[in-house]
Amino acid sequence: MVDLMSQYQNIKPAIDEAIQHVITNAQFINGPDVSAFQQELEAYLGVKHVIPCANGTDALQIALMALGLKAGDEIITPSFTYIATTEVMALLGLKPVFVEVDIDTFCIDPSAIEAAITSKTKAIVPVHLYGQAANMDAIMEIANKHNLFVVEDNAQAIGSDYYHKNGSVSKTGTIGDIGCTSFFPSKNLGCYGDGGAICTNNDELAAQMRMIANHGQSKRYYHDVVGCNSRLDTIQAAILRIKLRELDTYIAARRKVADHYDAFFAQFDQLKTPVRGKESKHVFHQYTLTVNGINRDALNAFLAEHEVPSMIYYPVPAHKQKMFAAFGSDATMLPKTDWLTERVISLPIHTEMEQEQLDFICSTVAKFLTKN
Ligand SMILES: *Cc1c(COP(=O)(O)O)cnc(C)c1O
Repeated sequence: MVDLMSQYQNIKPAIDEAIQHVITNAQFINGPDVSAFQQELEAYLGVKHVIPCANGTDALQIALMALGLKAGDEIITPSFTYIATTEVMALLGLKPVFVEVDIDTFCIDPSAIEAAITSKTKAIVPVHLYGQAANMDAIMEIANKHNLFVVEDNAQAIGSDYYHKNGSVSKTGTIGDIGCTSFFPSKNLGCYGDGGAICTNNDELAAQMRMIANHGQSKRYYHDVVGCNSRLDTIQAAILRIKLRELDTYIAARRKVADHYDAFFAQFDQLKTPVRGKESKHVFHQYTLTVNGINRDALNAFLAEHEVPSMIYYPVPAHKQKMFAAFGSDATMLPKTDWLTERVISLPIHTEMEQEQLDFICSTVAKFLTKN
């Protein structure tokens, strides 16, 4: 699905030097690259505070811990997402309230949010799935009206621009109260291990999250709140500094692959290519087709037989996971989510894709479609 080896080969001298530098200086924890990366990411995103942490799941957990919620408080979130988004809610004793996504954008449906609000609702966690932003203008309007926090799960969309109705532009992850991202190797800005970050324009939340990520420590050995230990390694920060400089180029390369797929697949009624909303710039963490009238699993198996990787993100939506049986998941009816779960299929997309590879993938998909 991704080719991290070719990507590394193209930036090898800078990466090798940066890693060597960290080792030579032996500042493995909280070394100077961590604060430098923090500042560079703040500048890139145009946000006041970035708090680096150990991974994207921790970022979400720390964000929710900082909101001062109590057990049983409800958080409205899509079911059609990676499990990390909702798992941390349950872990903290909060209640994920699963709602529908928009069939076209795969992101949370704002009208479903309004309908799910109760007196216990405290926050909305939209997910910018596959690299396309949720409808943040509508979400912020609902949040402001009902006095709810908004925590963006930006793990798949870092670098995406959101075009507000009023003409202004923001990076995704900087629109809600808090944005969370992941530097998992295959993400659009990936490191060589685990990594994550939280961002906010709110000084108080930033201070609270920084403290939570550092054992709830206000000054050394004085612990004010229950926290955790979540840090970005210096080596990962050094790698990310180099890759952040490439992020816009990487996004352009992904969009070019998506353009090629779109143009090729347009001729097939059996496939719906990703809908690009006007509200944001799709950064194509995934290129995800929705099949129409053909068997998705048969296509998936055919591609595997012909050595074309493809993936189903995600085969089981959160509300149908055993993990959430206690949250009345059987009672949750999400027909659009279930419909998508049976029809989505993601094709390889990455920054170093060759024309030859693209042609092979396209012709293999075409072969299946003409036979079925
Ligand atoms: C990857 C991902 C996460 C979690 O990130 P990790 O760094 O793997 O913990 C959370 N949400 C979404 C939507 C993701 O894609």
